[in-house]
Amino acid sequence: MIRGVVVTIDGPAGTGKSSAAAALALRIGFEMLDTGAMYRAVALLAVEHGVDPSDEFGLARIMDRAAIVVDFTSRPPVVRIGDRDVSREVRSAAVTTIVSQIASHHEVRSRLVQAQRMLAETHPRLVTEGRDQGTIVFPDAAVRVWLDARAEVRARRRADELRARGIEANDADVLREILARDDSDRGRSEGPLAQPAGAVVVDTSDMSFDQVVDALVRVVADRTRETGADCHCGGCA
Ligand code: C5P
Repeated sequence: MIRGVVVTIDGPAGTGKSSAAAALALRIGFEMLDTGAMYRAVALLAVEHGVDPSDEFGLARIMDRAAIVVDFTSRPPVVRIGDRDVSREVRSAAVTTIVSQIASHHEVRSRLVQAQRMLAETHPRLVTEGRDQGTIVFPDAAVRVWLDARAEVRARRRADELRARGIEANDADVLREILARDDSDRGRSEGPLAQPAGAVVVDTSDMSFDQVVDALVRVVADRTRETGADCHCGGCA
């Protein structure tokens, strides 16, 4: 039984879910969970241990030996493998290329879904973002959001973000990469990328970042009022 208020944010690649979720969580005094970083940590383990991304039970074995930890003492939280902060490494191209295949396996998803539900027990006022948060992991969440944007806008934003980090990127290549990843995420049988029933749709194509965060704060306020969930967030008045 999950106590507290969970806000889920799902959507395709490059909609700015992590940044928006982090800013929303800060505004309403919640904690934030980037579940993509957890799948990326498994992909990083696969790269480092030389496990093939198709080897479901090999992946399960390395997951069971290594502790993937979300450290909530940092804001936003960072993902660690054991003591090692891997939040930068999990963004590498080597990880991004294989993460969707890694995330298609039942043995991988069941472990991370269980871990995410346990995190919501210990961090009960939680904004959590990913692909299956409102459909599979927290289908009863008080607030479910589907964050979307036109594909070319998502590609441009993602390419800008990579260039800002000193990584060479062109919009057309990034567009191909995110469309391939969306197709793969949508097409899998386990926890596919899908719009949760009853989710509030926020299309960020023509919105600034601040407008997106303002819209999300309003959605949380409206939904928690409607459902009677009491978020005590101080940002909903
Ligand atoms: O959000 P991010 O781009 O970091 O996610 C990386 C990948 O992790 C996604 O493309 C998807 O394959 C997988 N993922 C998932 N379920 C989640 C979060 C991410 O399958 N809840």
